[in-house]
Amino acid sequence: MGTTYSLLCPACGYANPECCAGVESGMMVTLSTVHCATCRQLYDVPVLELERGITEIPIRCPNSAKHAVVRWRHPAPCPVCGHILSKLAERAIWD
Ligand SMILES: [Zn+2]
Ligand SMILES: [Zn+2]
Repeated sequence: MGTTYSLLCPACGYANPECCAGVESGMMVTLSTVHCATCRQLYDVPVLELERGITEIPIRCPNSAKHAVVRWRHPAPCPVCGHILSKLAERAIWD
């Protein structure tokens, strides 16, 4: 089971209402949060598929394969302004 969190930047107001803020595993898939410098956004992307054996999936930006992404794990800088994001309440449990 995975958990998502609500993230907020106290400096610029960037908010991500549902984010793993690191790596979270569900029944079928493992999600990792990535930071896309081009989109200035955080995304949760699948990195492992557990359905039939374990399949590793390379991280990429969901908008474009050309965007460079890096793994992001809280506490880490805001994708917009670089201030450390606040991790707010646990939002949801998914699987
Ligand atoms: Zn992107
Ligand atoms: Zn910010």
